[in-house]
Amino acid sequence: MMDGPMMDGEAFASWIRHAAELISADAERLTRLDAAIGDGDHGHNLDRGFTAAVAALPDGATPGKVLVAAGRAIVSKTGGASGPLYGTALRRAGKALGDAPEADAAALGAALKAALDGVQELGQANEGDKTMIDALAPAVAAYEAALADGADLPGCVRAASDAADAGAAATVPLQARKGRASYLGPRSVDHMDPGASSTALILRALADIAGEA
Ligand code: ADP
Ligand code: MG
Repeated sequence: MMDGPMMDGEAFASWIRHAAELISADAERLTRLDAAIGDGDHGHNLDRGFTAAVAALPDGATPGKVLVAAGRAIVSKTGGASGPLYGTALRRAGKALGDAPEADAAALGAALKAALDGVQELGQANEGDKTMIDALAPAVAAYEAALADGADLPGCVRAASDAADAGAAATVPLQARKGRASYLGPRSVDHMDPGASSTALILRALADIAGEA
């Protein structure tokens, strides 16, 4: 039996819409972070990608279909390294949710883990390389720990969001070993990784929506 708050397809669509809002509101900041250690396109890339994802959201679909549709739109409309990475994350999460009409805390945790595995398979980054993995990996670990402690879905997602914020902040002193920022070598130190910061935003959007579930 599943109990506690669950998320249906409409809740997942609300997550994507809210993530798009937060990214749009923060696009300048994300682009400034990327201008410091990359090519200054991250905020605008993601804003374009999530706008396309919102436009592609199917009506009345299952959670899995919602995330697969959003992921596809992001792959096709987001430039840079982050487009394929975020698109893969959402598609893998959607596939993990299967055809179920709702996701409980365990199913959402498995979906986030599938997203992390997809990003790592594609990008080959590990924790400490100063990428979005530095936000996503601790988020998944915190989610799983909260779930094991008996937290409900909103509680698990809040733990994940807090861990992603901390993980993004912890990228500041790191030297980049993957992606465009790695070309800077030691000059990539003392800046927050833009992708880790956007991952934290996307998970904050999920926590906001799950809190209403
Ligand atoms: P680009 O670097 O091609 O301009 P973006 O600026 O949109 O792409 O995204 C940059 C972000 O992508 C980085 O801040 C980092 O978090 C993430 N990233 C880059 N390469 C990888 C990788 N191999 N694995 C995981 N994340 C990566
Ligand atoms: Mg860039």
